[in-house]
Amino acid sequence: MAITPLMPVYPRCAVRPVKGEGCYLIGEKGERYLDFASGIAVNLLGHDHPHLVGAIQQQAATLMHVSNLYGSPQGEHFAQRLVDNTFADTVFFTNSGAEAVECAIKTARRYHFAKGNPQKNTLITFHNAFHGRTIATISATNQEKLRDGFEPLLPGFKYAPFDDLEAALALIDENTAGFLVEPVQGEGGLRPASQGFLEGLRMACNDHDLMLVLDEVQAGIARTGKLYAHEHYGIEPDIMATAKGIGGGFPLGACLATEEAAAGMTIGTHGSTYGGNPLAMAAGEAVFDVILEDGFMEHVRLMGDRLRQSLEQLIPNHDDLFESVRGLGLMLGVKLKTDSRAFVAHLRDNHGLLTVAAGDNVVRVLPPLVINEAHIDEFIERLSAGAKSYTVPKA
Ligand SMILES: *Cc1c(COP(=O)(O)O)cnc(C)c1O
Repeated sequence: MAITPLMPVYPRCAVRPVKGEGCYLIGEKGERYLDFASGIAVNLLGHDHPHLVGAIQQQAATLMHVSNLYGSPQGEHFAQRLVDNTFADTVFFTNSGAEAVECAIKTARRYHFAKGNPQKNTLITFHNAFHGRTIATISATNQEKLRDGFEPLLPGFKYAPFDDLEAALALIDENTAGFLVEPVQGEGGLRPASQGFLEGLRMACNDHDLMLVLDEVQAGIARTGKLYAHEHYGIEPDIMATAKGIGGGFPLGACLATEEAAAGMTIGTHGSTYGGNPLAMAAGEAVFDVILEDGFMEHVRLMGDRLRQSLEQLIPNHDDLFESVRGLGLMLGVKLKTDSRAFVAHLRDNHGLLTVAAGDNVVRVLPPLVINEAHIDEFIERLSAGAKSYTVPKA
């Protein structure tokens, strides 16, 4: 048999972590990696945060899972906290980002259905978007590498260039349900939307009774120095998907909505066996306890500024390789003049440094939000050494 027991959909590498310590991962042979990937923007408290670990341990021993057929004091409590701290009036808990986006898509369609406009079922989404790997969420992007061979895809999506307001508005017709957009594109190349773009989408939604659906699965939960990235823009969505950092490493996601937007999500219209189980709620609450502490967001913004400045200072020393730095808070990207995947592998294999490649030749820098200046210095040293020792592969 040639196939591996783990379905070979990932190009597995030699990094095989067995333990986490703060901002470091430790491999099978005891090797240490500085983790500026954070499980792709997930482990925002690092790997062994005592408050998160303790909350999970305690809840595991108390009650792990019960059906959503029963009342959920744990879910009610965490949902109330999300409502108190965001635009939303109501929350549906999921186990992943893609499921949160699925719920967001269903909520948007159902809003128009409940208003007697079932034909308004098409979401306008954006080139190079990443919304997950389910059939609906791969249908919501134009990225061929995600879609190829999985046809027939789900109808009801149209694609405009990212950050091009005019192109997006030009796609509005009598079937439009709204827009689905990442305020900061992650996988597609770490690109923050411009102010005018998000404001323009918000205004168009107000004018045409459309749903503004934000995918903050990667940008949300303090990653950019605000609880949610859209707060930087002074706009609010009608519906939003969140996941990744929200469980700090425990699988958890959520779809948030205003009361109006959730008008169609009535009893029996949606569900999940595991979604919002007490163990996941304990993890989410523990993460919230930490990120809502006084000074936490300021810390993220301060570290984000330092890291960005250090990266920008590094560029002129390696201007054959590095082009520019972009991003918000601790969601940063270094655009290369060459393919980023090979460079990310070089940093990983030869310099003990974990980052994540993204589209558009970008190296994503997504450290745990609890990093300090010493971590930034170590990162810059290793990145600089990595750039020095790197020979761009011949195309
Ligand atoms: C990671 C990601 C998803 C998918 O989340 P999963 O938990 O992998 O399903 C969706 N949208 C964005 C913006 C993401 O970064």
